[in-house]
Amino acid sequence: MKVAVKMILLKYNMGEEIIKLSHPYDEDGYTIFQCPFCKSDFKLENGEFYHEELTSIYCPYCGLISENSSYINEDIREQAIISAKNLGIDMLNMMFKRIENNFRSNKYLKYKANPIKKEEEKVLSDKIKDMKIIKTGCCSKQIKVYDTTISNIYCPYCGEINLWKI
Ligand SMILES: [Zn+2]
Ligand SMILES: [Zn+2]
Repeated sequence: MKVAVKMILLKYNMGEEIIKLSHPYDEDGYTIFQCPFCKSDFKLENGEFYHEELTSIYCPYCGLISENSSYINEDIREQAIISAKNLGIDMLNMMFKRIENNFRSNKYLKYKANPIKKEEEKVLSDKIKDMKIIKTGCCSKQIKVYDTTISNIYCPYCGEINLWKI
């Protein structure tokens, strides 16, 4: 059975330009992020960063701060690269096709465009289910983290440490 994956489009400010990436989110409306330092996954509620711009995130596990674009989960990053490549291939194919068309009226020269094959796009889904919702004491924000071996959690929004007992 194919499950429809719900996607949210997030904006990332990459210096000069703003890029938009689709992120899958789970049934509770949480989107996955991955810390660039400790590589751990956690989830933030869609509503929190959909309306207001979230420019930097603190990792709930190691507490390090980085700009939001560095928290893009690996699958999403890979898919973004494939999409960008395919977009480039589309443009090249269009260009070669145009050359072919231009040669059509030429009796002496023929040019046949062989379309470049596109890379297969990844099917993004939210594979991680075993996370627990916690509410940070400082900002009262709900986040999802792995519930094992956690004694303190840094708030992704303000970086304050929240002592945690499960
Ligand atoms: Zn981390
Ligand atoms: Zn906070």
